[in-house]
Amino acid sequence: MPAAAQQAMNSISAEKIRATVKYLSDDSLQGRGTGQKGGDEAADWIAAQFKSYGLLPAGDHGTYFQNVGFYGVTTDPAQTQLAFVPKSGEPMHLKFLDDYVANDETHSEKSEIDAPLVYVGYGIHAPEYNWDDYKAVDVKGKVLLMLVNEPPSDDAKFFKGRALTYYGRWTYKYEEAARRGAVGVVLIHKTDMASYPWEVVRNSWGGESSMLKDDTAPKLKSAGWIQLDVARKLAKSAGMDLDQMLKDANSRSFKPVELPVTVKETLVSKVREFSSRNVVGKVMGSDSHLKSQAILYTAHYDHLGIHPNEPGDNIYNGATDNATGCGILLELARAFAGAKQKPKRTVLLAAVTAEEQGLLGSEYLGMHPPIPARNISLDLNFDDIQPFGEPEQLVASGSERTTAYPVVESVAQAFGMAIQPDDHPEAGHYYRSDHFSLARVGVPAFSLGEGPLFKGHDLAWGEEKERDYVAHRYHQPSDEYKPDMDFTADAKLAKVGLAIGWEIANQPQLAGWKPGDEFEKARKASEQSKSAL
Ligand SMILES: [Zn+2]
Repeated sequence: MPAAAQQAMNSISAEKIRATVKYLSDDSLQGRGTGQKGGDEAADWIAAQFKSYGLLPAGDHGTYFQNVGFYGVTTDPAQTQLAFVPKSGEPMHLKFLDDYVANDETHSEKSEIDAPLVYVGYGIHAPEYNWDDYKAVDVKGKVLLMLVNEPPSDDAKFFKGRALTYYGRWTYKYEEAARRGAVGVVLIHKTDMASYPWEVVRNSWGGESSMLKDDTAPKLKSAGWIQLDVARKLAKSAGMDLDQMLKDANSRSFKPVELPVTVKETLVSKVREFSSRNVVGKVMGSDSHLKSQAILYTAHYDHLGIHPNEPGDNIYNGATDNATGCGILLELARAFAGAKQKPKRTVLLAAVTAEEQGLLGSEYLGMHPPIPARNISLDLNFDDIQPFGEPEQLVASGSERTTAYPVVESVAQAFGMAIQPDDHPEAGHYYRSDHFSLARVGVPAFSLGEGPLFKGHDLAWGEEKERDYVAHRYHQPSDEYKPDMDFTADAKLAKVGLAIGWEIANQPQLAGWKPGDEFEKARKASEQSKSAL
């Protein structure tokens, strides 16, 4: 490693990361909601830090900001109604938040649905796995009842075995249903299948939800979830058995089933137009030719904001998620900007908005990168880096799919860290953080995180800490700053990120996807767009 890189790395400070986390997760920033005052203040503050470190602006019109237009849609729980009306028997009236949640993706103030309900199993059409839940059944104008996740399998060639593919994500389910002209989707929430409890769904859907303004893909009038118990009752009212329905979905020969149930739904939403901002800065590369190319660092600064209708503490401070990633990003910014000699390629740093709304800020960044996507060698993302002390394992899931992997391996070794394979590939973390938005436009991208083994503790200790976080703080108002947090972890991850990025920034060739990877196609497409210019 060049002396300048070593020096830059040594300047990274755990206490500076602490100060960032403390500031960004303070109640005064109101949980940094997208389009809320606290979110805007966070963006201004991050830009001010970039400037103070000497970063150049990489946003619109010579600013540090990329303006992102949104519709903000809040479902009105008082006026919104959903009932399942069986052919015979009493209608089931559901209670918003307790029984179900729903968003109007068409951002209309009022949408009415009176439509048949069709159970479509997993709602997946995956030709490469010879899997089609729709079986050419016309679902236009219908509401689709479906499961999250994908058919279970240990066969690595079938939906990547235990690992979740994009087909298992709820975002895919909504996208596919809308492409087929369905008006609504009701996802059945089962904690083990979703890999997070109902509270996470409830809290994510309970507040305002944001949609990218320049998104022209087809959309659902009602994109929702129901509790497992509600689904059970619903099945019963239709004379069916939910457990059998769940089983049926695991078969390749599954066919959609129309239930003897009508969905009557009135979705009333408060709709506003607003903009939020990605904060982008850069440190120019030292090589006259390669400086037109870049490595990129990303971390989302938004969280779930404030939910004024909830009693008690209703500020979702987002200390771990993701003030920690911002603390790392800012230390990287400071370290690169302060380096006596710069890496060959330019270093781009982006604090993105609206991750919690479905990776929207990074999606916009991917569609409007300050340097063309084909010239971005690598994106390293930081999201949710637990301040638990000194980690001895590095998680870099997805890195093995890229040509950057040998660098990740050698850096991990230099830091005395073992590379920890994804503990929960079934949770599909790869598709749940901002690097995925860059991968979609072809940029080799992954997040850096820590495994559960920490210095001075056994594995069980770290696993218990992680479980405790997921159960008691993740996406809850209790994700707050605590003075006993130990940011050694975050500083170490920042250093690892700097070392990997510096090396990749100096390589003669841009990084790429390994042959046959699902994102290789996107990379090739972005390379070809060069000739169009
Ligand atoms: Zn996050």
